[in-house]
Amino acid sequence: MTRIAFVGLGNMGGPMAANLVKAGHDVRGFDLSEASVKAAIETGVKGTVALAEAVSDADCVITMLPKGQHVIAVWTDLATLIPEGTLVIDCSTVDVESARKAHELADVMNCISLDAPVSGGTGGAAAGTLTFMVGGSEEAFALGLPILQAMGKKIVHCGGPGAGQAAKICNNMILGISMIGVCEAFGLAEKLGLSHQALFDVASTSSGQCWSLTTYCPVPGPVPTSPANHDYRPGFAAALMLKDLLLSQEAASQSGAATPLGAHAAELYAAFEKAGHGGEDFSAIIHMLREKARS
Ligand code: NAD
Repeated sequence: MTRIAFVGLGNMGGPMAANLVKAGHDVRGFDLSEASVKAAIETGVKGTVALAEAVSDADCVITMLPKGQHVIAVWTDLATLIPEGTLVIDCSTVDVESARKAHELADVMNCISLDAPVSGGTGGAAAGTLTFMVGGSEEAFALGLPILQAMGKKIVHCGGPGAGQAAKICNNMILGISMIGVCEAFGLAEKLGLSHQALFDVASTSSGQCWSLTTYCPVPGPVPTSPANHDYRPGFAAALMLKDLLLSQEAASQSGAATPLGAHAAELYAAFEKAGHGGEDFSAIIHMLREKARS
């Protein structure tokens, strides 16, 4: 049993903390939202009213927060609150620069740190089947692995500090681009008089096969569990896809990588969000693409 402080008990952090409790860990949770703390208490997490209370005596601190600025603020506060040698893990999706800065803050505290963003969404968080993409030293990875295994199914050590966030935004850039590609293919098929099912049957077993097609198929019918069959409820919200595409664009411009399709995908999702669809599943962008054909 490890004493774990979990900071950020939202849509993802709440169920992740609950799985740590199920695995037998002693979990203290903190969130700025009282409602989130209350919901976590129902799952066996010990609720606290301050960061200091949550992290006192913790062997490991986990953060699951909206953005880089929140992670940096909390990790900065940890400096006066946790002893040397504490393992600190950030599971939020943040920009690579903030992830590296967080590792530097941990170094100054003589703490052991990992960036460990996830894929798998709220369903994976609840089921304990998340994929973790982890950045940090071998020593830190070995220490964090049993804790991450209580919340996920696949844990990949991607490299040194920031490598987890780098893997996350590269993966999600593929996802955003591939979803738009699949939507465009269905739009073209409609114009050519080809049925959705026929395109799916061919492409899902041919070289066009990808996750956006076979798991999140953007038209109702071929994949009964895809958000398209449930009024495009997320799933993975378009606003979160836009967040990740913007992070990948920020990283591309800082590192000098050429990502023209990533840039275009970010523009399309920005327009989709601006039109008021950020809360829909990201596959719903097929409606905006069809409208483009009409205009
Ligand atoms: P969320 O908004 O539901 O939860 C974030 C929580 O952090 C909120 O409850 C908020 O009150 C709390 N918080 C903010 N600042 C805080 C502070 N200083 N101290 C304590 N608590 C604080 O967000 P989420 O959906 O749980 O996502 C969390 C992270 O996971 C994000 O970086 C997101 O991009 C990433 N992510 C989300 C999904 C998803 O499907 N929701 C999937 C993969 C990754």
